[in-house]
Formats: sequence, C-alpha cells, structure tokens
Amino acid sequence: MKDLKQLVRPNIWSLAPYSSARDEYSGKEAHVFLDANENPYNAPYNRYPDPLQRELKSELKRVKGVPEENIFLGNGSDEAIDLAYRVFCRPGIDNVVAIAPTYGMYAVCADINDVEYRTVLLDENFDFKADDLLAACDQQTKVVWICSPNNPTGNSLNRNEILSVIERFEGIVIVDEAYIDFADQMSMRQELPSHPNLIILQTMSKAWGSAAIRLGMAFASKEIVAIYNKVKYPYNVNLLTQQQALEVLKDPYEIDKYVKILLAERTRLIQAFQDLPVCVRVYKTDANFFLAKVTDANSIYNYLVDRGIIVRNRSKVQLCQDCLRITIGTRTENNELLSALRQI
Ligand SMILES: *Cc1c(COP(=O)(O)O)cnc(C)c1O
Repeated sequence: MKDLKQLVRPNIWSLAPYSSARDEYSGKEAHVFLDANENPYNAPYNRYPDPLQRELKSELKRVKGVPEENIFLGNGSDEAIDLAYRVFCRPGIDNVVAIAPTYGMYAVCADINDVEYRTVLLDENFDFKADDLLAACDQQTKVVWICSPNNPTGNSLNRNEILSVIERFEGIVIVDEAYIDFADQMSMRQELPSHPNLIILQTMSKAWGSAAIRLGMAFASKEIVAIYNKVKYPYNVNLLTQQQALEVLKDPYEIDKYVKILLAERTRLIQAFQDLPVCVRVYKTDANFFLAKVTDANSIYNYLVDRGIIVRNRSKVQLCQDCLRITIGTRTENNELLSALRQI
C-alpha cells in the first residue's frame, strides 16, 4: 500500500476539522451546559447528539468484534460511499475501478464528485479475476470497489480473488458487505488488522431490518476512520437513530431469527419460481434477493405493477437482459407474487 498521505487528497490531509461544542467538551461530570446555544427545554431532543456515537460504537464492538477506533458510522452506507470520493479522489484527476454490474451508488457518487468511474465486466458466472481489475488500475486509481454478495447479481465473489486485489493493489479497496448476514461466506472483518488499505462497508438497512433509521458502518484502520470523521458533518447520525440502533443491537439473536426465516423462504420461493413458465433461469444468490432471467422482463414487470406488486426491473443493466431482481418478502407476499405469475 502507498502511504496514506499519498492517497488522501492534499486539502483533506491538511484539513482542520470543524470543532463543535460537543467535541471540545464530552466528559460526563458537568451538569450545566451553556456551550452549544441549545434550548434548555424539550429534553431529550434539545441537545446535540454525540458526534462520535461512542455508546453505539461500544455496542457495535461487542456485536462485530471491531474496536471503536476502527468504526465509522454514517447516514446509511451511502454516506460512507460518498466520503470515499471526497477523501481520496481529486475531482477531474483521479479515478476508481469497480466491477460491473454492481450497486449503482458507486457510479452516482463518482459522477457527483467528478471522478472517472472505470468498470470491469463480470464473467458469465458473475465473478471476476483480480488480474482484470488490477489491469484497469493506473497511478491515478485511488479506490477499487468490490461488492460481495454483489447487487444486483446476488452471488458472493471469489474470496481469494478479493484477497488478491487487497494484497496487490496500492490504493484503497472497499468491500461492500451489505448482504453478508445472508451469505455462506464469512465477513472480511478479520482481514482488517493485516490490511490497512481495506475498508469494509456494512449497514443496518438489510438483515437488521432498520432501513428507515439510516445507519451505515465502515470498518477500517484507525487512521482512515479519523480522516472520515473529520470530513463528515459533525452530527451526521441523529439521536433517534443512535437510540434505535442501540435498541436493535441489544438482541442480535432476533436478527438471526429473521435471517433464518428469510433464507428458508428464499429456498422455497426460488424453487417455485423455477417451475413458472415465465422463468428462464434463476441465478445463484447469497443475499435476501435473487436475480431471475424471465421471458420478457418489461411486460412481466408492468403486469406485476398493475397488480400492486413491485419488483426491480434490471433488464437495462449490463449482463442482466430480461432480468428481474426479486427481494424475499414474507411468506404471504411471496405467495402473492407466485400466484400472480402463475396466472400469466
Ligand atoms: C442496500 C445496499 C446498501 C445499503 O445502503 P444504506 O445507505 O446503508 O441503506 C449498501 N450497499 C449495497 C450494495 C446495497 O445493496
């Protein structure tokens, strides 16, 4: 890996972060707070939240086994994705490399930040070779994006190839594990101590059933986390989100139950889907959705919309002609989908 200083934009490296009232004083002993121009009434929402979400990070440490100093929390993973560009990529100069197809936000944030977005098409198994990704990189490549299990394809990517990219690439490798709780594969979290160029993204939005609260996690070296923390908005994770996340994290076994139910439903739904006349094939999945090639994605999509059933039409995405991406719902919802499709 190059020196972090060579990878971070010079203006960000030398940035003096905004210092909020709650940064300058965060001890517990005081009882009169006249430092932040807050209204003293309407507790508990009158006070600014902890800008570094310390209580929440200590819970996450317990659940994820990652020390607090290696955790960044954002307004969804989307914030951590955008920050990667703002921290590492000089607009109009640097570039990033990603697999294709993959999660759309990496490209959208590249466009917003005026950063060149290079893609390497996946193979016929929706997998990749480290050599191909590395061949697309040059001296201006600051970040490589890898999403595993991948969206919209659903499969986990080859772990040895991912590791090979992390070990051979001189810049930052971001592995997005939004769907890892549904996968047979293990998280890459234990690779963090030995790979200072690795950033792992996870989210409360999928298995944790908390998309509404907007909480995303980035696990990385403490140096990278410190830089992310100085670039983010001071109070990027609001109090309601921090409280609700603590509530959910109290009982990780509850989440395991959801995951087990959804995985059983996934098996059942895919089996039934494969027997439908409209189904051409279902791709291998390690997530809480599956990608299916159908006879005519556009007309089937519209047919379902007319019946109040919304799936994701991915037929315009590279390698996904005539493909629908279908999220695993409740048993009732899945049955409604199946019975609608049986009537075509
Ligand atoms: C859904 C999803 C996310 C989650 O984003 P949030 O902003 O945390 O809701 C991240 N990455 C991928 C690949 C996703 O599919």
